[in-house]
Amino acid sequence: MEKRSWAEPYKIKMVELLKMTTREEREKAIAEAGYNTFLLRSEDVYIDLLTDSGVSAMSDRQWAGMMLGDEAYAGSRNFYHLEETIRDYYSYKFTVPTHQGRGAENILSQILIKDGDYVPGNMYFTTTRLHQELAGGTFIDIIIDEAHDPASTHPFKGNVDFHKLNNLVNDVGADKIPYVCIATCVNMAGGQPISLDNLRELRNWCDKHDIMLVHDMTRVAENAYFIQQREDGYQNKTVKEIVFEICDLTDAATMSSKKDAMVNIGGFLAMNDADLYEKACELVVVYEGLHTYGGMAGRDMEALAIGIKESVQDDHMSARIGQIAYLGRRLEEEGVPIVKPYGGHAIFLDAKAILPHIPQAQYPAQALAAALYVESGIRAMERGVVSAGRNKETGENYMPNLELVRLTIPRRVYTQAHMDVTVESVVEVMKNANEVKGLEFTYEPKMLRFFQGTFKQIG
Ligand SMILES: *Cc1c(COP(=O)(O)O)cnc(C)c1O
Repeated sequence: MEKRSWAEPYKIKMVELLKMTTREEREKAIAEAGYNTFLLRSEDVYIDLLTDSGVSAMSDRQWAGMMLGDEAYAGSRNFYHLEETIRDYYSYKFTVPTHQGRGAENILSQILIKDGDYVPGNMYFTTTRLHQELAGGTFIDIIIDEAHDPASTHPFKGNVDFHKLNNLVNDVGADKIPYVCIATCVNMAGGQPISLDNLRELRNWCDKHDIMLVHDMTRVAENAYFIQQREDGYQNKTVKEIVFEICDLTDAATMSSKKDAMVNIGGFLAMNDADLYEKACELVVVYEGLHTYGGMAGRDMEALAIGIKESVQDDHMSARIGQIAYLGRRLEEEGVPIVKPYGGHAIFLDAKAILPHIPQAQYPAQALAAALYVESGIRAMERGVVSAGRNKETGENYMPNLELVRLTIPRRVYTQAHMDVTVESVVEVMKNANEVKGLEFTYEPKMLRFFQGTFKQIG
């Protein structure tokens, strides 16, 4: 049958009931949570768009795989299935499972980064940068300028700016750069892809300077879908083929399988270099577990192996991205300022434009996320100055250009009607935007403050 819309290539077999709350209940809940949506109880949330991490609906096949868990301490059958799947779909020779993505980031950073090193990347990610810093490194942003401009419609905002990369090498020398870290479908840029053309050029650049290329592959399938849709020469390639081609251009990868791969927990570090693999095996037993499970149950490794295969299907990906584009289109029709082009895992509201009366130092995106929850029980997340944290040298807030609220769409979970309710709620908040108040911290954690920080309203 000819494809007409983005409708889901699956039907619903089991449902999870949601609690409906009143506005009074939600006002109380958000105040008790210190205006931080991370601190709400899930049962007080109606539509949960906090994150796409670990919240996918698994398929009947994945659930069947859970029953095939080989829970041996060492050498689980499911590990070998996972390792083989990663080799076949992602090209990497060696796999070290970890409990989730940051476990892999920790091990990789500790092995490769020395005190005083610099790690260039196409925009920071919270946990990635923190592990680089904890290992003694400094993150350097080498993404193209368009990525920091919410109004730019550049099709590949995840691309690397080679002027920035060359400047860094000229300033500090290639031997101070252990690797370049490249994310596919850059989370903090709004789920924006890197092109294969740019990635190939980066591969050559890394070869020329003898620098490793590491891949944060958390959303590689979404990136591949955008390449298929937007990049010349890829229209007739499958998502699966493009995913392999992307991975094959890189030397090693960290993966949070809670995103693309549609499992509730898990991750891995993968690589082609036998020496790096040996070092990772030594460290994984310290922080995660034996190298054939690394913090994952056998059943979870089985569900992950199956999830990887499902994640690269063209039908799955066109429904996934189609749903997000639907939400984006509807919001735009209502005049809501959002980041363009639409992201791969989320639509990002431009909080600076929606709440111009709140200065960035009073956390407008944090305030907007709280107001959206009070309006309708929808839970979103801040991606602005709170997430950016403070410069470790000066102690000053990083002031990112992008001050965003992320409406993140879990995979295979919500319907078109949920998207419609979300649009209506955002529009309602915008109508009463001038009533939204700025915030100040009442508790500010030293690291990753967006997770557990609490606030109060100003005035
Ligand atoms: C989620 C995420 C991580 C960290 O993975 P966890 O599984 O949450 O530890 C790293 N990089 C990117 C781009 C992510 O989105």
